[in-house]
Amino acid sequence: MTEIEPDVTIAAGRLDVDIGVIGAGPVGGTLACRLAAAGVRVAIVDRAALPPMEHPDFDGRAYAVAAGSRALLEAADVWDRLPYPPGPIRDIRVSDGKVGRPASPLHLHFSARAVQSDAFGWMVEARSLRMALNARMHDLPNLSVFAPADASVIRAADGAEIRIAGGPVVSCRLIVAAEGRNSPLREAAKIPVTRLEYGQTGIVFAIAHERPHNGVALEHFLPGGPFALLPMAGNADEPNLSAIVWTERAATAAYLLEMPPERFVREVARRLGGHVGAIRLVGRRWSYPLTAMHAHRYTDTRLALVGDAAHGVHPIAGQGLNLGFLDVADLANQIIAAVNAGEDPGVAELLARYQAGRRPANLAMLAATDTLDRLFSSDSRALRVARDVGMAAVDRLPGLKRLFMRRAMGAA
Ligand SMILES: Cc1cc2nc3c(=O)[nH]c(=O)nc-3n(C[C@H](O)[C@H](O)[C@H](O)COP(=O)(O)OP(=O)(O)OC[C@H]3O[C@@H](n4cnc5c(N)ncnc54)[C@H](O)[C@@H]3O)c2cc1C
Repeated sequence: MTEIEPDVTIAAGRLDVDIGVIGAGPVGGTLACRLAAAGVRVAIVDRAALPPMEHPDFDGRAYAVAAGSRALLEAADVWDRLPYPPGPIRDIRVSDGKVGRPASPLHLHFSARAVQSDAFGWMVEARSLRMALNARMHDLPNLSVFAPADASVIRAADGAEIRIAGGPVVSCRLIVAAEGRNSPLREAAKIPVTRLEYGQTGIVFAIAHERPHNGVALEHFLPGGPFALLPMAGNADEPNLSAIVWTERAATAAYLLEMPPERFVREVARRLGGHVGAIRLVGRRWSYPLTAMHAHRYTDTRLALVGDAAHGVHPIAGQGLNLGFLDVADLANQIIAAVNAGEDPGVAELLARYQAGRRPANLAMLAATDTLDRLFSSDSRALRVARDVGMAAVDRLPGLKRLFMRRAMGAA
């Protein structure tokens, strides 16, 4: 195994593996752990050092991890290593309203109990996932980690190579691009991308609050974009803790981000409407300009795109990372089956099956989140009436509700 200081014997020579993963973010890191745990030989490269991604203090960022994604993290032996307990999301309440006014009396209420489950998903702190992934990656004997490292990739019909600056030449059967939205490997393969600009910014932070959230997530649709409260596990200092993902028009968000913390907290409280009592900001405010994007192909010669390198969706439904995890589960199953059967895991047929399995599903989620955002970010009276009627209808149709819930849980 190699980490920040490359091993001298490997540094001088060659390393043969089955799969080379470029990008050790949550998606690439999980894929590498899942494959290596199943006996596949893997090398993973990140241009950034990994330990600094383990923020020592709670920093306010968290992911909503669906049940299907949890199963993948368990198979990769990462879930049990999460150092901070995940917070279960047991109920979801969706409402449509205006700031400072009570939400529309029509709302949707989803309960995990209705689909015989404990939780729709779990809120996992970003640093917790990073710490668990780092620990696991460095634990697997057939996984070589190169980070921070500059690498160049050469792909050919019969195999691929990763040339690590100051390190070994790694030969493999398949390169997986997990480099996030601006994937250089995707660009080098000349894979076109469709992008949607929302003119919105996502503001992400955590709050401590007076009353317990009882595992209830709130999604409040406001004209500037959705405002979500996601229940997190508390700790000794902060027993009642939640993450907020607040989408606003870019100019409003810039103004909010500049606000002194006390005023910002008052704005948050107006949107929460006293739901969890008095609130306080914990950690800093993070902001992300929101765009959606989708790669026209997920594959090229000896190359597969996964996670944000292949797609980016609006965070309205908290599904971005979950889609990446579903890519990982699909691709990993195919690679593991091929390697166990003594077959080449980088052939075009395997890559075509991966693309056929994942691209339509990701496109459907991209379209659904885009429609939700456009539908709910409008203050037109006609649209408000239409969506309230739609919400009331869904609430009364148990079969349709269960379908929505199963999808949210990553079971689709
Ligand atoms: C506001 C907001 C809220 C969100 N909330 C949620 C949520 O609640 N739930 C959810 O599921 N998702 C959520 N997402 C989406 C989620 O953050 C992303 O889907 C996820 O981070 C993608 O992971 P990734 O590993 O594909 O890419 P990244 O996290 O971008 O990681 C890419 C990695 O590749 C490395 N890298 C980049 N270029 C190179 C290179 N040339 N060579 C080597 N390494 C390279 C980087 O250093 C990095 O480590 C949210 C997103 C936003 C913007």
